[in-house]
Amino acid sequence: MTDWLDIAGAVEPLDGIALDAGLAAAMQRHCSASHGDVGRINFYTPTFKAYATSELAGCGKSAWPAVSITGGECQLQCDHCKAKILEPMIPARTPDELWRVVNREIERGARGMLLSGGSNLRGEVEYDAFYPAIRRIKQAFPAFKIALHTALVDRDTALSMEDAGIDAAMMDVIGSQDTITQVYHLRRSVDDFERSLESLVATSLKVVPHIVIGLHYGRLLGEWNALEIVRRQRPAALVLVVVMPFYAPQNRSFATPDPHQVGRFFPDARGALPDIPLLLGCARPAGAVKAQIDAYAVMAGLNGIAHPADGMIELAARLGREVRVTPACCSIALGDEVLALHGAESGISIDVQEVIERERNQWRARRALAQIPVVARF
Ligand code: SF4
Repeated sequence: MTDWLDIAGAVEPLDGIALDAGLAAAMQRHCSASHGDVGRINFYTPTFKAYATSELAGCGKSAWPAVSITGGECQLQCDHCKAKILEPMIPARTPDELWRVVNREIERGARGMLLSGGSNLRGEVEYDAFYPAIRRIKQAFPAFKIALHTALVDRDTALSMEDAGIDAAMMDVIGSQDTITQVYHLRRSVDDFERSLESLVATSLKVVPHIVIGLHYGRLLGEWNALEIVRRQRPAALVLVVVMPFYAPQNRSFATPDPHQVGRFFPDARGALPDIPLLLGCARPAGAVKAQIDAYAVMAGLNGIAHPADGMIELAARLGREVRVTPACCSIALGDEVLALHGAESGISIDVQEVIERERNQWRARRALAQIPVVARF
């Protein structure tokens, strides 16, 4: 049997991308031990417009807008974010404004929204005043999907979210007390995160927690404990993202997480959650690191990758994985990850050979462009 490292080496866009031979071999052995059943993988990407069905057409930010009930404000000011994640979101600071925003976005073609907001000092987003408006939205537009970034909740809050008609609940699970205290500046415990997840899972909501890999200033620290929490609570799916510390202050800087360490976490996650969809979300560092992380995700048997690096379709196909695509931009992918996890039928099957050829040509054209010397004239 050909080594997976050699197979990866034959994928043109992975030329020059260093992969850990031991890790690739371990993933291959693990796959052989499960009788070579590498399974299906779904790529979420807007670059497959040719395959878009009428149902999936209309990909774009307007289809899945992100809305913040606090605008750009957040009291917590975590070291890796400093509320910057909220800045591009559509503000809806009052229930009436939320109603107006949703009506306007539906007119523009929105199929759903990600509803979020900045946290208070207890790590909670204060949605209380918005539940009647959310209920009204769901009654008026039942097909309009709402994925809620819940933050920390207690049992009553989780029930209020369910009662309001939210479709999906997302929260970051943190497994290290040091990360909670130092990065999030929170006086809450790891148990509070587990109790929040437990309260959400006890409702009928589709619960999709996230684990942010490298959240402790670029180091992996509480990720395995977070994984254990997720394994115990058994949500609908788990999304893994890798920290992108663009906004960290200089005196609290983040390192780019080591891609091989990130890769080593994937088989552990797969092993802990063999029957729960495991997805790589779109947030992760760019460039060679992204190619390395994505290659490991394909080899480790993750079920889906948002915005895959060049060459991933070819790699998956060469490893024998059935490839499907959901032609969606990042915000839709998030929605799909959360709301379209109906397993077997999600995504569209594609002519892999044709796609690989097209991807290869695009990659070659981009590389040729990058190699054209730029002559500055003054
Ligand atoms: S609580 Fe959320 S929005 Fe606020 S700084 Fe932290 S990660 Fe950013």
